[in-house]
Amino acid sequence: MVCLVVKAGGAKVFGRWKEAFARIAPDLDVREWDDPTLDSARIDYALVWQPERGRLAAMPNLKAILSVAAGVDHVTCDPTWSRAIPLIRMGDDEIRLHMADYVIWAVTSLTRDAARWQQAQAQAQWARRAEFPLLSAQVHVGVMGLGSVGAYVAQKLAGWGFVVSGWTRTPHTLDGVACYCGSDQFSTFVAQNHILVCLLPETPQTRGLLTYDVFSRLRQPSGLVNVARGPLVVEADLLRALEDGTLRGAVLDVFDREPLPETSPLWHAPRTLITPHIASEASRAARAAKVVATIAALERGEDVPLRYDPERGY
Ligand code: NDP
Repeated sequence: MVCLVVKAGGAKVFGRWKEAFARIAPDLDVREWDDPTLDSARIDYALVWQPERGRLAAMPNLKAILSVAAGVDHVTCDPTWSRAIPLIRMGDDEIRLHMADYVIWAVTSLTRDAARWQQAQAQAQWARRAEFPLLSAQVHVGVMGLGSVGAYVAQKLAGWGFVVSGWTRTPHTLDGVACYCGSDQFSTFVAQNHILVCLLPETPQTRGLLTYDVFSRLRQPSGLVNVARGPLVVEADLLRALEDGTLRGAVLDVFDREPLPETSPLWHAPRTLITPHIASEASRAARAAKVVATIAALERGEDVPLRYDPERGY
């Protein structure tokens, strides 16, 4: 019997995973991460979110690691993890669909000054303004990363009427999206956009990419949507840019430290909307189905999509 160990929340959440797997794969032996009766040599697969360092390395017969999320930085940050073991990212239509909805909401919130109206409402102020917002067709949105999620989001934004461009590591072509790639074209890409939407994976190359200098090169009124990972943005630069008006607004779903500490100045940054890493998560049923299909394919010796590439770093 194939054994899957799950680390994705506490005992209650594990119970829900177990039920989800029991419905579609009753033959799968699904075990809790800290099950004291489980011999680690019996574990074939691990489904994880933020596993403690060293734990995966202590599973001698592990055939693959499956991430509960689209990002795998929560696994690759563990220096003891063996790159020889396949690491599979979570990917599903639901992730793309939820993300597109979130990003459309975030970008339109920026263009329609949602944070400002929220603040005015909190103070019971009828604060009409003299200037008119830009129409969607006048707003240039740059999507950083055109992968399984980013490409879909970019095309949805284009369909909404925004002027959309994308930036990647390698050349791409995408209907309705002007594509740029590599560090050579980064400045040109940034300078033509009002709003950046960050959908890059966290790697040594992308960490700290979004700085005050980048924000200051955007067209005005400018904005940032970060739905990728917190460390891609230099937090002190982001705060400075929001405080001095270089950035007109931000919608942030991910942070250096999560949960975002109560003391973080980002909670009170001007014209900023904050959500607690909820931009996109597929339902448990959809993710369990993906895990079962991936395990079945691996057991048949087939290659599976969304496999982490240690050379690329994502
Ligand atoms: P993919 O791995 O499919 O795509 C990554 C994209 O980033 C590719 O287009 C790749 O370029 C580009 N890229 C990678 N490194 C660089 C670089 N150094 N310079 C320029 N471009 C680069 O990822 P997904 O689309 O599936 O997801 C992206 C990220 O979004 C995830 O890693 C995760 O962090 C985040 N995410 C967050 C969620 C949330 O709820 N907040 C939910 C889902 C995802 P190329 O195509 O040339 O290889």
